[in-house]
Amino acid sequence: MKHTITLIPGDGIGPEVTSAVVRIIEAAGVEIEWETHYAGAQALAKFGDTLPKELLESIKRNRVALKGPITTPVGKGFTSVNVGLRKALDLYANLRPVKSLPNVPSRYSDVDLVVVRENTEDLYSGLEHVVVPGVVESLKIITERASLRIARFAFEYARREGRRKVTAVHKANIMKLSDGLFLDCFHRVAAEYPEIESDDRIVDNACMQLVMRPEQFDVLLLENLYGDIISDLAAGLVGGLGIVPGANIGEQGAVFEAVHGSAPDIAGRGIANPTALLQSGVLMLRYINEREAADRIQKALFDVLREGKVRTRDIGGTASTAEFADAIIAKLNRERS
Ligand code: NAD
Repeated sequence: MKHTITLIPGDGIGPEVTSAVVRIIEAAGVEIEWETHYAGAQALAKFGDTLPKELLESIKRNRVALKGPITTPVGKGFTSVNVGLRKALDLYANLRPVKSLPNVPSRYSDVDLVVVRENTEDLYSGLEHVVVPGVVESLKIITERASLRIARFAFEYARREGRRKVTAVHKANIMKLSDGLFLDCFHRVAAEYPEIESDDRIVDNACMQLVMRPEQFDVLLLENLYGDIISDLAAGLVGGLGIVPGANIGEQGAVFEAVHGSAPDIAGRGIANPTALLQSGVLMLRYINEREAADRIQKALFDVLREGKVRTRDIGGTASTAEFADAIIAKLNRERS
């Protein structure tokens, strides 16, 4: 089956890593018609808007996008493209699988967990005001609707991907109403999935446990702010942001992207590591039910990393982005023949 997918090359190293990933996905034999759209700095220069209407329409139509990193121009009046996309498409779930990669330097070798972060509310609602001079109030919004929706997403993901346990992370001992509601919704949804283990941890304890024994965790479910912090902490367990994939998922569609930014310091030199976006591409292939191709790409990537002959500079090698992609494609071709 041929898929139509929106492709956002992005800024900085974005076009370099997206073209590497597109080549690898095509080499795996997945038939995709890419609808390429600009966002961010390039779109601003061309269309006077960082998030053009045509781009949003394309994602709404195709329901799936692969996105390179975007530079958000500094200055007033420019909405962050990532926030804009999330809002426009109600991409309420942020998904970040964090897994140790062979031969990638990090302190742990057996991490395999998934962070599910609620993407739409909590302290990110941006509701802040000055009560009296010297006193400000930031409103933490937690709703039953969003909490049930994200808990259900986490359990559905666990069921689909054969995960054994979902752990809710919270501070309900202090924020008894807000985090209490989130936790209550979690337990209500957990009861609908008796085959999946469920438990909960207070966020400070969860942080300590994560750095001491990360292997005890499977799927973590968090509100927006804790999710933001813990997903970076988790990325640090396996070698940093440069290799970890991500997805923002809603009812109307999903946008798959690496966690790293546009890396202006190395842009245009062809030395960026495409691993994070490639892993996001693998997530995307699973989402569109191209699981067999996803598994083959994942295996080819792991084989190249394990052999260690072709590595980009950030993980201790000298290979260019294109050479790294070629090595993965060669593995895919060898498997097919
Ligand atoms: P960054 O992630 O772009 O770079 C941080 C460091 O990591 C740099 O030294 C960079 O060279 C390195 N790096 C990042 N990705 C790499 C890769 N694939 N291979 C090798 N090295 C890599 O973070 P930053 O410098 O803080 O941000 C740059 C721009 O990116 C900013 O405009 C920021 O707003 C934007 N940004 C966008 C996204 C997104 O679109 N999702 C996310 C984060 C930052």
